[in-house]
Amino acid sequence: MDGVTTPDAASAVLILLGPPGAGKGTQARMLEEELGLVQLSTGDLLRAAVAAGTQAGKAARAVMEAGELVSDEIALAVLKDRLADADVAKGVILDGFPRTTVQAEALDTLLDQSGQRINAAISLEVDDSAMVTRISGRFTCGGCGEGYHDSFKPTEKTGVCDKCGSTDMKRRADDNAETVAARLDAYHTQTAPLIAYYDQKGALERVDAMGAIDDIARELGRIAKHAAA
Ligand code: ADP
Ligand code: ZN
Repeated sequence: MDGVTTPDAASAVLILLGPPGAGKGTQARMLEEELGLVQLSTGDLLRAAVAAGTQAGKAARAVMEAGELVSDEIALAVLKDRLADADVAKGVILDGFPRTTVQAEALDTLLDQSGQRINAAISLEVDDSAMVTRISGRFTCGGCGEGYHDSFKPTEKTGVCDKCGSTDMKRRADDNAETVAARLDAYHTQTAPLIAYYDQKGALERVDAMGAIDDIARELGRIAKHAAA
């Protein structure tokens, strides 16, 4: 290859739907390794924008800390920016996007323009009551991005990443009980309607996401391979 990447009309587009804490990020990372797709998390992109102090980051910061959704305009801007990178031509797993009907419609238009389609929108089905515990115990490796949980997925050695050995563990500013309640609320009012949206398009798959991480990963891998074939 000469390093020039043209958008591949056949590259897969998978969407992970589910409330905060459902495991979208964890599962997206596992699928990324298994299928060679690229995880695209608008939450991660927005946190990077906040950390970098960009225009979008400045506008997003307080909104994110309150557990509300940033404007569709900002969410779309960070998505489009990332889609312009060459590596996403391999196909993407969208994690945290779309989150509103406006975003879903904008994504349809974008994909239409590049001759792509959504292979599957996979809904991770969980009980809300378990999400607060899941979220309040989670942390991420600052070195490689691997996600962990105090009870459900601890590191082998306390404070040290299993994957890269980094000791730089991060907990998100919005992973506290009050903000989680607002995030769940935003999910139910603004994002959950997308389940019906994708169901109507015949793209919806539902996965029980209350079990063990590896079992869910196996089920997701099966669906994703089938959908992306
Ligand atoms: P979670 O799904 O666990 O809440 P994310 O990392 O996906 O976490 O998102 C964190 C925050 O980033 C959200 O609460 C919201 O403020 C903002 N955000 C992420 N993606 C979007 C999006 N597509 N539209 C609007 N806001 C978003
Ligand atoms: Zn690591």
